[in-house]
Amino acid sequence: MTRAYNFCAGPATLPAEVLQQAREEMLDWQGSGMSVMEMSHRSDEFVSIAETAEQDLRELAGVSDDYAVLFMQGGASSQFATVPLNLMGTDGAADYVNTGIWSKKAIAEASRYGRVNVVASSEDSGFTFVPDQSEWKTSAEAAYLHYTPNETIGGLEFDFVPDSGAVPLVADMSSTMLSRPLDVSRFGLIYAGAQKNIGPSGLVVVIIRKDLLGKARRETPTMMNYQVMADNNSMYNTPATYSWYLAGLVFKWLKAQGGVEAMGRLNRRKAGKLYDFVDASDFYANPIAPRFRSWMNVPFVLADDALNDEFLTGANARQLLNLKGHRSVGGMRASIYNAMPEAGVDALIDYMAEFARERG
Ligand code: PMP
Repeated sequence: MTRAYNFCAGPATLPAEVLQQAREEMLDWQGSGMSVMEMSHRSDEFVSIAETAEQDLRELAGVSDDYAVLFMQGGASSQFATVPLNLMGTDGAADYVNTGIWSKKAIAEASRYGRVNVVASSEDSGFTFVPDQSEWKTSAEAAYLHYTPNETIGGLEFDFVPDSGAVPLVADMSSTMLSRPLDVSRFGLIYAGAQKNIGPSGLVVVIIRKDLLGKARRETPTMMNYQVMADNNSMYNTPATYSWYLAGLVFKWLKAQGGVEAMGRLNRRKAGKLYDFVDASDFYANPIAPRFRSWMNVPFVLADDALNDEFLTGANARQLLNLKGHRSVGGMRASIYNAMPEAGVDALIDYMAEFARERG
């Protein structure tokens, strides 16, 4: 079996051990005589899989009983609407920080449901930094403050958790969840699409402080109502059972690696190596202010755009896949989530050095 190094931003590489376990259990999950995919979501077997996954996530991320953990569907994008429908109230308002393409999508969707106050934006600079919190213009009427700790496309990451005072802090953690330790108690709500650090796409994990449940607007679709999801253990309808199971395997794998502390150390080292290499080179460049460079998504450009195709062809030949940057920003992007081994980053750096020597 050949496993390529897959630098895709999502769906992203998964731990090989997790895929192997899923393969071993594919036809017969632990003597049940069936695949997890074929199990009733109400069966004892699946309920134990679901509960174990939730418990492991709670342990990994340090989620207290003050919070409900929900396994929802529709990806992170559906949360762009679900959050305002549940938290904004009728004729309500919310504060949003604009640091990139995903922030903008969240803002656009929330604007359909109420007044959105953009407290700060780094759009004029091409989203290369995070505006200092002392300059944010928050509004007194905001029901919550929303931000995107890691902008997957731009490769921009907050190196601080905003202080939102008494206003619930809401974070789209899709591309940073479980990549390092986190103080969940600072947040009112966290959501994360699974396809980066958690599991298969489509699944979205929501961690919500329980006092924020029960506030959904009347017209909120039942499937988007956090209270309904919490009351039904995320099984109001048939949940994404196989994705939930796979997420559970990833949580077990993470625990075996030493949890988020160990992941944080590894991720810092992986990203540090790559940025150090880019900075030391005349051929590659990254535009983000060093303080706010993402540990998860590392965009870089070549000195000459005309060499992009050749760079990608050579990378593919070495099994270094999906390095092409997002179509909206161009260049390259290496996504190096938890499951990307350090050896993958080393292989990428070796290739980049060789390409610069030969073509630079
Ligand atoms: N937010 C962020 C930060 C993302 O990176 C993504 C996906 N790349 C999304 C939201 C949208 O996720 P989904 O495709 O699961 O809706």
